[in-house]
This record gives sequence, C-alpha cells and structure tokens, in this order.
Amino acid sequence: MDRNVSTARETEASTTLSLRDVVKTYEMGADRVHALRGVSLDIARNEYVAVMGPSGSGKSTLMNVIGCLDVPTSGTYSLEGQMVAEMSEYQLADIRNRRIGFVFQTFNLIPRASIFHNVELPLIYAGVSKTERRPRVERAIERVGLADRVKHKPNELSGGQRQRVAIARALVGNPSIILADEPTGNLDSKTGDEIMAVLDELHAAGQTIILVTHEDYIAEHALRVIRLRDGMIESDTRTQRGNGGSPQARHERAAGE
Ligand code: ADP
Ligand code: MG
Repeated sequence: MDRNVSTARETEASTTLSLRDVVKTYEMGADRVHALRGVSLDIARNEYVAVMGPSGSGKSTLMNVIGCLDVPTSGTYSLEGQMVAEMSEYQLADIRNRRIGFVFQTFNLIPRASIFHNVELPLIYAGVSKTERRPRVERAIERVGLADRVKHKPNELSGGQRQRVAIARALVGNPSIILADEPTGNLDSKTGDEIMAVLDELHAAGQTIILVTHEDYIAEHALRVIRLRDGMIESDTRTQRGNGGSPQARHERAAGE
C-alpha cells in the first residue's frame, strides 16, 4: 500500500513531459493539413523513445511541438510540470537553447565555423560567459569522442563525425531532453550504429532521449517505440531491450543466471 503511494509519487515527479489531446492543423490557403489529430503521451526522465511511422504521419510535427519550435492548435503540453502555453518568450528561448538539445538528419552545422565554435554557439545564445563556455564545450566534444578535432571545420569531417558534433552541440547546454529527428537518416548503417552507440552511452548516463527513425534496427536501441499513423498514436510498446535487455540477457535470466 505505502509502496504503491510512493511509486505513484515518484512517477509524477519523474514525468518530464506530458501531452494531452494535442492537435496540430496547418492551414495551406483553403486546405487544412491535419498533422496531429489528438496525441496524448507521457515521457519520464531517462526514457529512451523511438518514434516511428510512415512519411507524413506527423513525427517531425510531434518533435517540433515537444521541442517548443511549434505550438499545438489545441490540446495541452506540459514540460517538467509547467504548461508550455503559459511560458514567456524568454522561458521558451531558454528551453530551445538549453533545456532541449536538437539533432537533425542534416546536421545543420555552420560550415565556416570550427567544431569548437559550432558547439559553443548555443551557450553564446544562452548568455553563458566565455570562461564558463570553454570547459563545457571541451567536455561535450570529449563525450562524443572528437577531442582531437576541435579546430577542424565540418567539411573536414566524415558524416558520422559531423553528426557527433551535432550531438555535442545538443549536449552542451546540459539539456533535460535530447530530440533527434532521423539522426542516422543520412548515414550508412555502420556509421548509424556508431551514432546510436553515442546515444546509448548518453542514455546510460541518465539522458532522456527521443528519436525519430524509419529503421527497426535503430529503434531497437530504444526502450520504447511509439508508432504514429495519420497523426495519431497507433501503438506504444516496449522494445526487446525495454523488456529486459538483449535476447542473450533474457536467455541467461531464464536459465536462472
Ligand atoms: P513526418 O515527419 O512523419 O514525415 P510531418 O510531421 O513532417 O511528418 O508532416 C505531417 C503532415 O503535416 C504532412 O502531411 C506534412 O505535409 C504536413 N506539414 C508538416 N509541416 C507543415 C507545414 N509547416 N506547413 C504545412 N503542412 C505541413
Ligand atoms: Mg519528418
């Protein structure tokens, strides 16, 4: 009994984001595009979620709403206990610059700037002092294994390395959530695996991660898969990992350790 009460309280405290009946309709002249048709979901701290679904099913729209880059037409969104619709422009900017780290399929790096400067930019926007920025940028670049590339420019790196820079940039503000929209979409499968190894490590270190992917083998890195279809959640399930690890680990448990 006591145990149940405390579990409920912990669940509430650990809920990072909560969407209720979120609808997003785009007006295109006389046409209306129903990108999200009533999505409700909760994601807790340190979850590792893959969002899947056919092209046009609303995955990017959902990520944009979660990342506060776009506002729902109706429905509510609360992030760490606070209603996003009630936040000031200043708070929203802080969320985009610091509390949520974005990773895109196309990397979105500044070509003429060094790796160091690319990773430093969100901290400059967030008003972090120069002396504080340097160690944080160096630490983020180290975490993605590119310490020896800080002075390089993006075009001197491979696709996989560029995506790692984008992950370092997402990490540098110490975000509560990393949102990655098809982070391996432009990479071959071996390089995709390397990127997923980086995300796996961040998750193991406590990071909350939500990623969009078309590939089952990528989604299998996550612990939970949400499938969208026509702007609605079609299914929300645990992956094999989410159900207790690799097939090997389950086999060992079944055999009595
Ligand atoms: P997905 O990422 O799953 O491919 P999206 O969320 O990008 O899907 O798009 C969902 C639907 O909303 C699509 O029909 C798309 O054309 C439409 N859409 C997305 N963004 C916009 C926009 N800015 N203006 C108009 N329609 C949009
Ligand atoms: Mg998309």
